[in-house]
Amino acid sequence: MPSNYSQPLNQPKNILILGGTIESRKLAEKLVDDPNFRVITSLAGRTNLILKIPGELRIGGFGGIQGLIEYLQRAQIDFLIDATHPFATQISHNAAIAAQGLGIPHLVLVRKPWQREREDNWLEVEKMEEAAKIAFNYGKVLLTIGRQQLEYFAENPKSPNKITWFLIRSIEAPNIQILNSQILLERPPFSLESEKELLIKHQIEAIVSKNSGGTETYHKILAARELRIPIIMVQRPVIAKVDQVETMDQAIAWLNDS
Ligand code: NAP
Repeated sequence: MPSNYSQPLNQPKNILILGGTIESRKLAEKLVDDPNFRVITSLAGRTNLILKIPGELRIGGFGGIQGLIEYLQRAQIDFLIDATHPFATQISHNAAIAAQGLGIPHLVLVRKPWQREREDNWLEVEKMEEAAKIAFNYGKVLLTIGRQQLEYFAENPKSPNKITWFLIRSIEAPNIQILNSQILLERPPFSLESEKELLIKHQIEAIVSKNSGGTETYHKILAARELRIPIIMVQRPVIAKVDQVETMDQAIAWLNDS
C-alpha cells in the first residue's frame, strides 16, 4: 500500500464512481487500496468489452433519477464522483439532481477539452446534427464519434443522391447501417503514425469528432493538423454548475477535504 495512505479511523466511506472512461478506471485503481474507502464503479453496460476495473463493479442503468436515488440510499453511498464521458449528459444531470436531493457530496471529474491550435482547421459546431450536414459536403469522411448518433449520417438531408463515403471507427460494431460506409473496429490509443497512415490510405477529406479531450485519441488531431485535413468538431455540452475538477489528484484532494 502506498505510504501516503492513512490508516482507517472509522468505517470506510463508500464511493460511487460513475465510469465508462479511462479517468474513472484510473481513479478506481488509485483509491482501491486506500482502507478509508470502499470503491464501487458503475458502468452503463454499453459495451461488452469491459476492461478490468479494480474494486466493486455494477453494470446497467439505475432507472432514471429516482432509481439512482434509491441505489445511493441502498448502497449507503457517502461520495459520488461523476467521471463519465464529457458527452454523457443524461447520467451527469441525473447524478447532480440525485446527489443534491440526498445531500451527498458530488464531484465531476472531467478531462480538459482539446484546444484548437493556429494550424488546426476546425469547423466547430454545437450538435452532431450540424456536423452531419457539413460532412455531406465532403467525399470521404472519417467518423470518430463512437456508435451513438450515427443516425444523422444515414442520409444526406439536402440531396439524397450526393454520395459521401464514411469510414466509421468504433470499438464495437454500430447497431445501425450507414449506406456507403466501412466499419473499422479499433480501440484507442492510436499512434500518430497509424493515424496518418489511415487518413492517407483512405484519402480522408474530413474528420468528424467530439471534443472529448484526453490523450488516448489526440493523435488524430495531430495527424489532421499535419495533413491539413479539416475536423468537424462537436463542442461539449454545457455542464450544470457543480464542483468540477480535471485531474485525478484534484479528485483525491477533494475526497480528502470533504
Ligand atoms: P448518457 O446519455 O448520459 O446516459 C444515458 C443513460 O445511460 C443514463 O440515463 C443511465 O441510465 C445510463 N448510464 C450512463 N452512464 C451510466 C453509468 N456510468 N452507470 C450506470 N448507468 C449509466 O450516457 P451515454 O452518452 O450513453 O454514455 C454511456 C456511458 O458510456 C457513460 O458511462 C460514459 O462515460 C461512456 N462513454 C460515453 C461516450 C459518449 O460520447 N457519450 C464516450 C465514451 C464513453 P438510467 O437513467 O437508467 O440510470
